[in-house]
Amino acid sequence: MGRKLLQMLLVFCVLAFGTGGNSMPVHGKNTSVGIVNRFRTVTAPVIVDKPVRLTENRERLMREYSLEHYREEMTEIAPRAVIVHWTESPDWQGVYEYFYKESMADGTLNVCSQFLVDRDGTIYRLTPETMMDRHAIGYNWCAIGIENVGGVRNEENLTKAQLRANVILICYLKEKYPAIRYVWGHYQQTEARKSGLYREAVPGYFSNKVDPGPKFMAALQKKLKESGLLFFKP
Ligand SMILES: [Zn+2]
Repeated sequence: MGRKLLQMLLVFCVLAFGTGGNSMPVHGKNTSVGIVNRFRTVTAPVIVDKPVRLTENRERLMREYSLEHYREEMTEIAPRAVIVHWTESPDWQGVYEYFYKESMADGTLNVCSQFLVDRDGTIYRLTPETMMDRHAIGYNWCAIGIENVGGVRNEENLTKAQLRANVILICYLKEKYPAIRYVWGHYQQTEARKSGLYREAVPGYFSNKVDPGPKFMAALQKKLKESGLLFFKP
């Protein structure tokens, strides 16, 4: 009997306080307030871990890239923004195979984003969330990338399921990394310099982007208007 009671109590404690490493002790008179604050305010998304090739060689290439472009060797980032992309391809497998490789043809770090969202809304995590991935010139040092499968021939065809997945994923990231203040689409990269986060040491290193289109960004902004996140005009 006693043992069963203890087990039940333990289950309650886990439900009420969680088991995460950032658990804080609840004390003082406002215990109930403390408990309420301990609950996550967003639903955690279902994330499928599907890592690309992560080796010491990829880390070396990250250090080389960041040294050249940010004048600082880094393999980890402290996220301050989320950048949304589309893949310009029709299926996630092809993108995954492309990102899987460590280097590009010129021997530099291959492009990759931390997340890939399939057309049915499935969220794949391709690298650790705070790994320095190469997905947005000038911002890789501080931004988490979300790729969305679609946008072939620049057609604005991302799905409602992808929109839902992006909303829930961005809320999850914002709660996990409170320093995240901005969300923008890759095509908004120039306007996003107003964030003060743009950093690029190589003169003239730039490429024009249209992804993921203003339609998707307008919808995302509308869904996240209560989040406190900052957007740029779609
Ligand atoms: Zn992009």
